[in-house]
Amino acid sequence: MRQIDHFIVGDSPAPTRKHQVWNPSTGEVQAEVGLGDAALLEQVVATAQRVQPAWAATNPQKRARVMFKFKELIEANMQSLAELLSSEHGKVIDDAKGDVQRGLEVIEYACGIPQVLKGEYTQGAGPGIDVYSMRQPLGIGAGITPFNFPAMIPMWMFGMAIAAGNAFILKPSERDPSVPVRLAELFVEAGAPEGLLQVVHGDKEMVDAILDHPAISAVSFVGSSDIAHYVYKRGVAAGKRIQAMGGAKNHGIVMPDADLDQVVNDLAGAAFGSAGERCMALPVVVPVGEDTAERLKEKLIPAIHALNIGVSNDPDAHYGPVVTPEHKARVEGWIDTAEKEGAEIVVDGRGFTLQGHEKGFFVGPTLIDHVTPKMESYQEEIFGPVLQIVRAHDFEDAVRLPSDHQYGNGVAIFTRNGHAAREFASRVNVGMVGINVPIPVPVSYHSFGGWKRSGFGDIDQYGTEGLKFWTKLKKVTQRWPDGGGDGSNAFVIPTMG
Ligand code: NAD
Repeated sequence: MRQIDHFIVGDSPAPTRKHQVWNPSTGEVQAEVGLGDAALLEQVVATAQRVQPAWAATNPQKRARVMFKFKELIEANMQSLAELLSSEHGKVIDDAKGDVQRGLEVIEYACGIPQVLKGEYTQGAGPGIDVYSMRQPLGIGAGITPFNFPAMIPMWMFGMAIAAGNAFILKPSERDPSVPVRLAELFVEAGAPEGLLQVVHGDKEMVDAILDHPAISAVSFVGSSDIAHYVYKRGVAAGKRIQAMGGAKNHGIVMPDADLDQVVNDLAGAAFGSAGERCMALPVVVPVGEDTAERLKEKLIPAIHALNIGVSNDPDAHYGPVVTPEHKARVEGWIDTAEKEGAEIVVDGRGFTLQGHEKGFFVGPTLIDHVTPKMESYQEEIFGPVLQIVRAHDFEDAVRLPSDHQYGNGVAIFTRNGHAAREFASRVNVGMVGINVPIPVPVSYHSFGGWKRSGFGDIDQYGTEGLKFWTKLKKVTQRWPDGGGDGSNAFVIPTMG
């Protein structure tokens, strides 16, 4: 059995606990990952403390050169990274490449660190007085990441943190831990000092150790909302800076004037792509008006039947299996719940099996109509290839639905009416908005972050927000008066009292 080890400096102690890593397409266990504990974290933190000061003192241009080289290595290894990712996650190879690519774009932004780290300067803020500010690294940062983007989300975090001068400890999901380790290997190959980026595997025990460790200044978390909230509270109580992104239930509003062919095409990817295991998926479609709902449904049904489900390395598959057998059971359980709650199961993906891969964790595409805001299956995140239709009476209703929902990650509106789109974008209580764009993930030089229970903490991921998160701002007020005329410097630093 393949063993997946931590990526640290020195020997890893033999793990007392292990976690099984599936191949979701075959339903077989393909590897085991050893789970670390607080003692391992001590070793890792000591390494980070040793290497970080020299890295922080390395000029930003030299730090950027490592990022440039890392970018080249990722590009050169794109295919093998995507295959490894796909084999543990279950997303198809093209989606896996997208996962790597979106992370790479944050590395590209981090290549510009000499420019973005420049501080501000005011000459003559008072007589002979200048004021300037500088962004300094925090020291050691940590990232705790979910299974669904094992390349992109680690790179969101360590790309910015390390470029800004920090050492970084990554605790990836124990469900698909190989790609994060591979990224760390490539980072050393790119010229990063050993120990600057370390990867420790683990579960709650390791997460708690990270949250409690006094030498770790900031923790970035992405995962489900209850755990995000827990991480936020425990980390803040320990005096750390925390950003904790949680779950989502993104709505796609379809106005009566929308181009329905475009909407159906976009929904096929946004609701079912990557088996719906995206925090920026669109699992809820909100047609405005009964006529829009009927026209949309009529077009959606054949489009859903045309989706091709396959093993993750099948080039013709639109999407692959979900990540674990437990997750398959959970997604199917939510379809049961929706049915019991009185919704109409229009296309039923329960009990789907793929010929020749009967043990794989496949869920067929599912369409559920007449879902109402009171239903639990609407209120909670399903995180599978399931699209729910919630019919809105009018525009006001359509603004209210996502605004009132507990999650506020992303939302999209499909319309040809610029005024309606503008009104919607300005009023909706959600962090990221797409206008005729199904998955409104902002590019790397903007920033990513949801609202309400989709994001705890004030600072978003990557872009200028990421830089803010991984640095602290020092403000210097300086005065350089003339010397005393006798050659001595007559200026003395004033003291209190
Ligand atoms: P998860 O919450 O199960 O796991 C996330 C991380 O927390 C993992 O590293 C895991 O090891 C750790 N963890 C698990 N149980 C823990 C516990 N009890 N205490 C402390 N740490 C624990 O999430 P997941 O299933 O890996 O990922 C899917 C979830 O992540 C979905 O809810 C999805 O919406 C969310 N997500 C959100 C965003 C976003 O940006 N808002 C992005 C991607 C995924």
